[in-house]
Amino acid sequence: MEEERLKDKILICVDCNEEFVFTVAAQEYFLERGISEEPKRCKSCYMQLKKGKRQQQKENRKKGSYRKNNGNANGNYRYSYNRDYKK
Ligand SMILES: [Zn+2]
Repeated sequence: MEEERLKDKILICVDCNEEFVFTVAAQEYFLERGISEEPKRCKSCYMQLKKGKRQQQKENRKKGSYRKNNGNANGNYRYSYNRDYKK
């Protein structure tokens, strides 16, 4: 077996410009999956990106079905509620 020792690498996140560690474990994970690129984002930015994307999709889906089902009813309710509250 070829001995190629991996080392932790310090990379710069493209989002927050902070240094982050591309750990040996992460490198092995990338290798296992056949990904030759190094990560561009630190873990927290990457998670945020992932979360943001998923949330957007969810919201779009929600909005779409809302309007079809009972968007009007909810809109009216909210509107009158705000008006009463301000009085
Ligand atoms: Zn970052």
